[in-house]
Amino acid sequence: MQSIDTYNFAGKKAIVRVDFNVPLDENFKITDDTRIRAAIPTLKKVLAGGGSLIIMSHLGRPKGPTGKYSLKHIIGAVEEKLGTTIKFAPDCMGAEAEEMSKNLKPGEVLLLENLRFYEEEEGKPRGLADDVSEEEKKAAKAVVKEKQKEFTKRLASYADCYINDAFGTAHRAHASTALIAKYFPNDKMFGYVMEGEIKAIDMVLNSPARPLTAILGGAKVSSKIAIIEKLFGVVDNMIIGGGMVYTFKKAQGGTIGTSLCEEDQLELALSILEKAKEKGVKLYFAEEIIAADDFNNDAKQIICKSSEIPDGYMGMDSSPAQIKVWEEVLMNSKSILWNGPVGVFEMPNFANGTLSIAKILAKATENGAFTLVGGGDSVAAVTQMGFADKVSYVSTGGGAMLEYLEGIELPGIKAIRE
Ligand code: AMP
Repeated sequence: MQSIDTYNFAGKKAIVRVDFNVPLDENFKITDDTRIRAAIPTLKKVLAGGGSLIIMSHLGRPKGPTGKYSLKHIIGAVEEKLGTTIKFAPDCMGAEAEEMSKNLKPGEVLLLENLRFYEEEEGKPRGLADDVSEEEKKAAKAVVKEKQKEFTKRLASYADCYINDAFGTAHRAHASTALIAKYFPNDKMFGYVMEGEIKAIDMVLNSPARPLTAILGGAKVSSKIAIIEKLFGVVDNMIIGGGMVYTFKKAQGGTIGTSLCEEDQLELALSILEKAKEKGVKLYFAEEIIAADDFNNDAKQIICKSSEIPDGYMGMDSSPAQIKVWEEVLMNSKSILWNGPVGVFEMPNFANGTLSIAKILAKATENGAFTLVGGGDSVAAVTQMGFADKVSYVSTGGGAMLEYLEGIELPGIKAIRE
């Protein structure tokens, strides 16, 4: 397998799949440029090695070409961070993009317009009426899949080598993230973002310093089951906080007031508890919590047990005493993986638990623990709270990281490795 560190880029055109899917406000200003900053080392490496760049990405979920999701909005930010001007192809297909890539000289950079302006990128038919039959859907899908082959081949024709640096979409088998790799059997590689993500997660899954503790939070048990079960085979301790807790407490016969609860997951919650026992994993639930009489920042608060919540109250955050218990577990851990907030952190009055976890992780990192934070909301939490550079690794890909942790082989990774 090729490595970006040793590949000879001199005189070569590299087509690089990055994740420039950044949030924009109503004036098309970037509100969080983390993903652009993350891609810069890979892009600079190609240029420093004497190559030229063809950058491709998606932005948002457009249904077709639209100014709203044009990558032209981010040109300035990329130029500034890369320290060079870039050319822009207003359509990732067609004669103009072909011509522009053909004429690209070493050191030059071409950004292609949003790949998802074409349904071929994802390979899914768009604009089907609601009442089409299964047969018609199948036929439409077959047509798009056929067109996708041509789309992928054309993208590949622009360049001499392919770099995948978009971890955020590595769990999708799209044209630019996976299918294109086959056109570069000896000239495909991961970029630094992908390498870093894979290394960090593999370290936790395969060779963690122990004890290894996972903190799992967030709203729903149902969306975390696969990862909980997978992690049982790996972790020594598991801290469970957030809205998930109450389904477990109810399943065990507790009273949970109006807390979030997935009634259809009660049996499963019990079986998870059994499995933890079998695997010898120590579970640390949020036993003491802050409950409120409304799902509202200014609601009345009480501190109570998560299994003894009074009528009309709902669990909203972990209590300070609970955080102390968790802190001891965490400060004794050599590796920590965190996914999901342990309270409704979007409301300032219920953000203390999540903020405390971020602080503890920063302290544990300082003490030499390896700390990995991943999954949309926990990343938002550490970033918002200013702790992103105080932990060992912050994963940029929410869904992709979860699937990787669940043990699923990601198409974007497989396509480079095979
Ligand atoms: P997830 O996407 O599953 O990681 O869930 C994240 C969401 O869980 C955030 O929006 C949190 O506000 C929410 N959350 C965390 N704790 C609670 C809770 N006790 N009750 C309701 N929602 C919660």
